[in-house]
Amino acid sequence: MSIRFDGRVAIVTGAGGGLGRRYALDLAARGARLVVNDLGGARDGTGGSVSAAQAVVDEIVAAGGEAVANGASVTDAAAVQAMVDETVARWGKVDILINNAGILRDKSFTKMSLEDFRFVVEVHLMGSVNCTKAVWDGMRANNYGRILMTTSSTGLYGNFGQTNYGAAKAALTGFMKSLYLEGAKNNVHVNTIAPLAATRMTEDLMPAELLAKMGPETVSPAALYLVSEGAPTNVILNAGGGGFERAYVTITRGVHAGAEDLTPEFVAAQFDAISSWDGMVEPANGSGQGAMALSRG
Ligand code: NAD
Repeated sequence: MSIRFDGRVAIVTGAGGGLGRRYALDLAARGARLVVNDLGGARDGTGGSVSAAQAVVDEIVAAGGEAVANGASVTDAAAVQAMVDETVARWGKVDILINNAGILRDKSFTKMSLEDFRFVVEVHLMGSVNCTKAVWDGMRANNYGRILMTTSSTGLYGNFGQTNYGAAKAALTGFMKSLYLEGAKNNVHVNTIAPLAATRMTEDLMPAELLAKMGPETVSPAALYLVSEGAPTNVILNAGGGGFERAYVTITRGVHAGAEDLTPEFVAAQFDAISSWDGMVEPANGSGQGAMALSRG
């Protein structure tokens, strides 16, 4: 069955270029009305203009779709709230939020200033929090919402020179994992995408022949599925270059120590058994850790 978004209202942040632009064009082509948000700044988050968002709106409208541009910085909670209020005034609701806006300020941790660390956390984490906060109550009241966070291979697995970005991106999966529990009762699903694509963010980080196979159109199918009516919740999907994988936050079966074994020497001796992949599961929430411990007791 084809996946459609007729009657849906979507906000995509950072949609003036790269992945966000592709998501916005694809959602609009499948019937959604779009708010194309983009600060329009440089890759490190400096500067800004609404022209990047407007260019994508023009593309959507030229293709017969409906869209409006918004130049708010996701770091500005008041401007984000105004964007959501204007959307609700125009189209009555927000069904879909894709938290996609992002920047890079790469440096080894030794050379990184606290300001560059804080700013990257501010844009990725607090930007996503600001946008989610602004749509949350409306989605719950409407008994419908689809929210997508954007993590990264760095947030999941790490990358030299990206401690700020990795911390911010990992925080987004943590945000999802508690938020999805709070949205479940009201049909608000929350998922996370870990994209890999040729954009200005990666143009100097990957070889040209690889980039040629990794256009944003290779990521967009996963993003659209994760904000569709039939979307799962609490899922992390990795996508790029034609590959789709799922990432899990798991817990090993571990070992149980008797009272006489509660020593660091026991942990050292059992470290291989504690680390074994046999019987690994993904708990649905944090109490899974205690449940795993007690199940062996
Ligand atoms: P991009 O630079 O083309 O797109 C990011 C967009 O966000 C830009 O258009 C930028 O103007 C906008 N933006 C930046 N700060 C903003 C702010 N404060 N408010 C509103 N808009 C803002 O890069 P992209 O590769 O398309 O990145 C999209 C998302 O995907 C980012 O969150 C990025 O971290 C993530 N990501 C990308 C890759 C990849 O391979 N391209 C890998 C992992 C994660």
